[in-house]
Order: sequence, then structure tokens, then C-alpha cells
Amino acid sequence: MLVQAYGAYAGDQPLEPLAIKRRQPGPHDVQIDIAFCGVCHSDLHQVRSEWAGTQFPCVPGHEIVGRVTAVGEHVHTFQPGDLVGVGCIVDSCRHCPDCEEGLENYCDNMVGTYNAPTQDEPGWTLGGYSQKIVVHEHYVLRIRHPEDQLAAVAPLLCAGITTYSPLRHWNVGPGKRVGVVGIGGLGHMGIKIAHALGAHVVAFTTSESKREAAKALGADEVVVSRHTEEMAVQAKRLDFILNTVAAPHKLDAFLGLLKRDGTMALVGAPASPHPSPNVFNLITKRRALAGSMIGGIPETQEMLDFCAEHGIVADIELIRANEINTAYERMLKGDVKYRFVIDNGTLIA
Ligand code: NAP
Ligand code: ZN
Ligand code: ZN
Repeated sequence: MLVQAYGAYAGDQPLEPLAIKRRQPGPHDVQIDIAFCGVCHSDLHQVRSEWAGTQFPCVPGHEIVGRVTAVGEHVHTFQPGDLVGVGCIVDSCRHCPDCEEGLENYCDNMVGTYNAPTQDEPGWTLGGYSQKIVVHEHYVLRIRHPEDQLAAVAPLLCAGITTYSPLRHWNVGPGKRVGVVGIGGLGHMGIKIAHALGAHVVAFTTSESKREAAKALGADEVVVSRHTEEMAVQAKRLDFILNTVAAPHKLDAFLGLLKRDGTMALVGAPASPHPSPNVFNLITKRRALAGSMIGGIPETQEMLDFCAEHGIVADIELIRANEINTAYERMLKGDVKYRFVIDNGTLIA
């Protein structure tokens, strides 16, 4: 089946319309008409070859929402018409210890929604900047938000789970002071979710223009990280920091804000490394520096249900498919509050 998509033929080329093939649904597959797809900074890193190993043509997109149009004969949990989502994972081995614990995100054979090996043509996966996708039922999520929020639900499939999972893993909740660094697509979800979990949230931004906006998202305090006096006020005050920044920066500036035994988890994945942190910032207060990658399928469903229950969606700017290259430039400048979402209906316009 041929469908319309948007992708790039090389890392230094803009994205453009192209036609791609989708497989016919197998016995356990779900075929989805994609209504909307969020634009993650990882899409930009990958399609511009900022990370190693991009295969071209590359069709990014792993914040997918839409409606089921067909299911394989063994699929009993979904039926045509259902509202569903697909995030960053479309396959995994399903029998290793990670998969058995529902942590498919850490499976050595996890198959990403784009740029991962597959038997389908052309040999690597192609993502959600496309009209349709066919996915094994295990990796399809149910959406319980009202349908008119569908576009704003899309970013939960990556930005939502990538922030929810570490916030839960490090027990963020009432009585905890939590820092969220970088108020972009991930960071703004981190603020909303940490607030809904009952924590005291301190947002850190490089953008003066986000100072008031971050409060509206649920931050109790906002620090413009370029101002040393404002940073000094937070010294040794935080239990946990979620660092979402998409560029290399000095981690020491934030490690010093952790209490004894505090942890900073990095989720940002910049193309080049951060300067090495000063080990004394870790050992003198038994602090930990950690990382976290998206989340498993059961936890992604839990996050979607949590967000539906708490009325949480992303703050989005809806774009046409042919606006994607401009959207990337604006994302690089931090000029989006807070997530671009493609209206996939415009792929055929
Ligand atoms: P984004 O919307 O571009 O947000 C990143 C934010 O980081 C910006 O809004 C900006 O916030 C801050 N920032 C950017 N450049 C900076 C710089 N040079 N110095 C200081 N701060 C800077 O990106 P995103 O979609 O949230 O993704 C963030 C990162 O997470 C990307 O590297 C992405 O690849 C990665 N990611 C990782 C996972 C995972 O599983 N670990 C999943 C998804 C994405 P302020 O304006 O507030 O300073
Ligand atoms: Zn992503
Ligand atoms: Zn596995």
C-alpha cells in the first residue's frame, strides 16, 4: 500500500513530499490512519544526521495519534474506529527480561518507529509524518481523552512518557522539590506532570520570555538559568532534576542544586557531549547523575490514562506538513510554545 509522507533524502536536505510503502496488516497488526503527529527534537537530530546511522530516505515522527482502520484476524483489543496512539517503539523481542518487565524501551532489540531495521521496505522503519502506519498490536496505545483534544494528545506519546517515566522512577510526588531544566516540548510536559504528581516544581529556562508562561504550566518557581543570583537561591534545595536540554551545557550548574542523595536524570540527547562534570559535585553530597529513555508500553498506557484523568495535554502549535522545515528552524531557536504538531490531513493537500 502506497501512502503519502514527508521526509528527507539526505541530512543536509530539507524534508519534502514522498510516497512510501506500508505492509498489509498481518494477523497481529493494527492499521492506523494518522490524524496528527508531534514534532520531537529527536526527529530533527535524526533526519539531519546529528546522531550516527541515519538511513535515507528518512521519514521521522513518533508522536502518532489516529484512528484504527483495519485489524488482523488475531487482534481482539482494538477494532476499526478506535482512537489510538503509537509512540517511539513499534517492535521488540518480547521475551528478554526487559520486555517481560514491560520495559521494551530497554530491550536490546527494540525497534524504533523510524530509522530502525525492519523486514518492511525499504529495510528501515518510516515514521509518523505519513498518512498511515501498520503496527503490531502490542505497541498500540489506547487514547481515552476527548476526541477534540486529539492533536494535543500526540506529544504525550514521546514528550509525555519521556518525562513521566523518570518522574515516577525517582518517586516524584508530594513533599518533593523537583527541577525541570529546558522548557521545550519535553520540559513543558515535565512541569505539567510533576505538578499533577503533587511535587513543588522549579522550572529552569534560558529564555526570559518563558518566565511567566512556565508558571501557567504549573511551575511553583521559575529560574532564568543565565542569572547566577537566581541559581544561587536554589543551591542544595532540590530532590530531583529532570534535564531535557537538547544542547551541550555545564551540568555542574545544576548538580550543585541537588540536596544530599539527590539525582539529576538526563533525557536530552545532544549531538555532542556535555562538558564533564566535576566529580566533587557528586561525591561531596552522594549525588547521582543518571539517564532515562522514553518508557515501556504498559507505562505509556498508564501515562496516557493519568493525563486523561488529570486533563493534561500538550500546548501545541498545529502546522501543515509543508511547514515542517520552518518549524525545525523555529524549534532550534526555542521559538515554540511548546510543541509543533503536524495535521496529517495536509499531507495530500
Ligand atoms: P525542544 O522542544 O527543542 O526543547 C529543548 C529545550 O532545551 C529548549 O526549549 C530550551 O529551553 C533548551 N535549550 C535548547 N538549546 C539550549 C542551549 N543551547 N542551552 C540551554 N538550553 C537550551 O526539544 P525536545 O523535543 O523537548 O527534546 C529535548 C531533548 O530530549 C532532545 O535532545 C531530544 O532528542 C531528547 N529526547 C530524548 C528522549 C529520551 O528518551 N531520552 C526522548 C525524546 C527526546 P529553554 O528555552 O527553556 O531554555
Ligand atoms: Zn521523541
Ligand atoms: Zn526484549
